[in-house]
Amino acid sequence: MTSAGPTPIKSISLSELGERLAALGQPSFRAKQVMEWIYGKRVKSFDAMTNLPAALRAQLAQEFSFDSLEVVRVLGSDDTTRKYLFKLHDGALIESVLIPASPALYGEASDRRTLCVSTQVGCAYGCKFCASGLDGWSRNLLASEIVEQILKVEEASGEKVNNLVFMGMGEPLANFVNLMKAIEILNAPWGVGIGARHITVSTSGLAPQIKQLADQPLQIRLAISLHGATDEVRQQIMPVNRKYPLDVLLEACDYYVTRKKQRITFEYILIDSVNDRAEDASALARVARRIGAKVNCIPYNTVEGLTWKRPSERRQDDFMAILDAADIPATIRREKGHDIAAACGQLRRQTMQPA
Ligand code: SAH
Ligand code: SF4
Repeated sequence: MTSAGPTPIKSISLSELGERLAALGQPSFRAKQVMEWIYGKRVKSFDAMTNLPAALRAQLAQEFSFDSLEVVRVLGSDDTTRKYLFKLHDGALIESVLIPASPALYGEASDRRTLCVSTQVGCAYGCKFCASGLDGWSRNLLASEIVEQILKVEEASGEKVNNLVFMGMGEPLANFVNLMKAIEILNAPWGVGIGARHITVSTSGLAPQIKQLADQPLQIRLAISLHGATDEVRQQIMPVNRKYPLDVLLEACDYYVTRKKQRITFEYILIDSVNDRAEDASALARVARRIGAKVNCIPYNTVEGLTWKRPSERRQDDFMAILDAADIPATIRREKGHDIAAACGQLRRQTMQPA
C-alpha cells in the first residue's frame, strides 16, 4: 500500500512514532506521551492530549489519522457471547466476538474475557464449511483496524479484554506484516498490554508463514485449523490442503514446536459423516501424538446456505472417547453464542444480505 495521506496512528509502534516525531524536531519523550493518551487514557483526538503544545497537536492531526471503526450492531447479552459488527472507513463490514470467562483452551481458565478478532475483509481460502469465505476476499485489515477492534469492544462493553484469539474473519497469516504489527501494539507495555501467552493466532495451515511465525521472538500461541487428519478428508473441505498437504503442514508444526518449545492446538470442527468417523478420530490421535498437540473439538455451527450438519451428541461423545483412549489431551467446546450466529462471518453475512 502507498503511504499517501495520513498514517493511522494505531498502526505504528512507539519507536516508529519516535522517529516520525524526531523528524518534526520533537524531543523523544513525546512519543511516550502520545501513546499514553491513546492506550492509557484512551482519548479520541490529538486535541485531547493537553500536555502537548497546541502547534504539535495540530501537526499530529495533519500527519496521522485517529479512529476508523464504527460499531454498527451488537448482538447478545452481558453473560453470553456478544458480537460486534463494525463498519470500516470504506464501508466494509467486519466482526469481533466477546466471549466471557469460559473454562477453555487458550491461556488459563476462570476470570477471562476473550475477544475473537478479524484480520481480513472476507477470506480467500474458501473452506467449504465457513461463512467467511463464501463471498471471497476483499482486502487485508490495517494494523490499526485490528487494534481498534479491541479498543472499541472495551469501550462499548466497559470490560477489559485479557485474552485474544485471531479466529474471526480472514486468514491471519495471509496478512502477516499487519498482523505482527498489531500484535506488537497489543502486547506492548506502552500499548494495550495483553500478555503474549494470552494471544492465539489461528491458521488454516499456511506452512511457510507458520515457520516465519516460529522465528518471531514473541511467545504467542498457535492454533491450527486441522479439521481433517488425512489428506483425503482435509482436501474435501479445505482447498488450502492442495497447496500445503498434511505432511508439509505437519513439518511446519514440528518446526514451530521445536523453536518455541510450546504446545500447539489442533482445532477440529466435527461435521456429521464428513470427519467424525471412528477412523477419523484414530487418524487425528496419530497426528496429535506426532506433534504433541492438544485437540480442541468444536461441533459444527450450521451456516445458512450450506448443507453441512453438526453430529449428534452420541457421535461427538464416541469421537472424544477414541481420543481419550489414545491419551490425547482433548476438549470439546460446546459453542456459546450459537443463537447469535457466533461462527465467524455469519453476522456480517446476515447484515449484508438484503432483507
Ligand atoms: N482463517 C483462520 C482463522 C479464522 S477461522 C483459520 O481458519 O484458522 C476460526 C475458526 O473457526 C477456524 O478453526 C474455523 O475452521 C472455524 N469455523 C469456521 N466456520 C465454522 C463453523 N461454521 N462452525 C464452527 N467453526 C467454524
Ligand atoms: Fe478462511 Fe479460516 Fe474460514 Fe477457512 S476457516 S475460509 S481459512 S476464515
